[in-house]
Amino acid sequence: MEHSVDMEEKVKIDGLSFVPFLKEEDIKREVKRVAQELRRDLEGKSPLFVCVLNGAFIFAADLIRETGLNEAPIAFVRYKSYEGTGTTGNVKQIYGLNEDIEGKDVVIIEDIVDTGITANLMVKDLKKRNPASVRFVTLLHKPESSRTGFNPDYIAFSIPSKFIIGYGLDLDGKARNLKDIYIHS
Ligand code: IMP
Ligand code: MG
Repeated sequence: MEHSVDMEEKVKIDGLSFVPFLKEEDIKREVKRVAQELRRDLEGKSPLFVCVLNGAFIFAADLIRETGLNEAPIAFVRYKSYEGTGTTGNVKQIYGLNEDIEGKDVVIIEDIVDTGITANLMVKDLKKRNPASVRFVTLLHKPESSRTGFNPDYIAFSIPSKFIIGYGLDLDGKARNLKDIYIHS
């Protein structure tokens, strides 16, 4: 298997090297902060969380539990735009939302906003279905990669435009299980 972790915590996957970037405890702290902001903004509303697969599944699981909201229904959608370490610039919806979102306070949960193409498309699509509101939460934002000017409402971390893996984020399906986030070195 082409996956090894050496003494300096470097990770090598498919011939690419990654070094630790955000540690588990930093991620936990920022997830908690964003969860508290969401709780404050959603109290008394009818939230529906929408987790964007595959990358956001770990973040979404931690985030909704940290909100402390009594009711936090969650639905899943799936989009794909990346091949290897680069965007194809072409976003495909693999599956969409079946739930009725009319009157709901929709909270989209993403792993990362890079060009913003996926985020833009999703928000536009969901707004057509008469939700009460649409909020966008992302674990990571690469502001320098924006091709759309899309601004997430909640951001755990703003990061440079380098390829990262771990805590749900993958390289061609690999490394989502890493507890820390690693950056391409
Ligand atoms: P966007 O449409 O260019 O904003 O791309 C967003 C999607 O690309 C994310 O939901 C991720 O699935 C993927 N992506 C962007 N940057 C990275 C990265 O650094 N590592 C892993 N996946 C990434
Ligand atoms: Mg994604």
